[in-house]
Amino acid sequence: NLFTESNLSPEILQAIGEMGFETPTEIQKQSIPFILSDDRDLIALAQTGTGKTAAFSLPVLDMIDDASRKIQFLVLCPTRELCLQITKDIKNYSKYKQNIKTTAVYGGSSISDQIRSLRDKPQVIVGTPGRVIDLINRKALDFSEIQYLVLDEADEMLSMGFKEDLATILSETPSIKQTFLFSATMNKEVERISKNYLNKPHKITV
Ligand code: AMP
Repeated sequence: NLFTESNLSPEILQAIGEMGFETPTEIQKQSIPFILSDDRDLIALAQTGTGKTAAFSLPVLDMIDDASRKIQFLVLCPTRELCLQITKDIKNYSKYKQNIKTTAVYGGSSISDQIRSLRDKPQVIVGTPGRVIDLINRKALDFSEIQYLVLDEADEMLSMGFKEDLATILSETPSIKQTFLFSATMNKEVERISKNYLNKPHKITV
């Protein structure tokens, strides 16, 4: 089982090949073909270190319309550190897709610098909920064309008290989109947001 057997593009295969990825991890084996071929929502129970970032980003990067300069892919995650790590990974994976741009938005850092980097018209946003809300309020983010939404470490986001922020952000996105919820654990809170925001999700556990 090699990445070259998946339906990923030559640009993605080149980038991950240079990063030394040869064999998909378990979560990647299950989620990459699903995301490429199915338009249903997805719940994936996976810990950090399982390769979950590539599991959701590689197929979505191949489905983004890079001729459009609208935000199509939004990744929400709990912390600044995770936001920076996911952004770095997505930029590496998309390095041979030169028209795809990714911007990180997170708290504890200059909002005016982030507003400036949004003028680049990225198709991909990776953000922490509080800062995303600030930028929505300043009319610096337009989520009306989002097609793919990832809630990464959903259990952490909920235990950090981002439930209301998630509701506000999701209300800015179109109702027709594909949502992927990643969580290390399944608990009542995660179940509740899955029920509220996901439509008949396919489930993967690794
Ligand atoms: P994550 O679970 O997304 O935090 O990924 C954990 C680490 O595994 C990251 O450093 C990735 O670069 C690396 N990684 C992800 N997928 C693969 C793969 N298929 N082969 C080798 N390394 C990988």
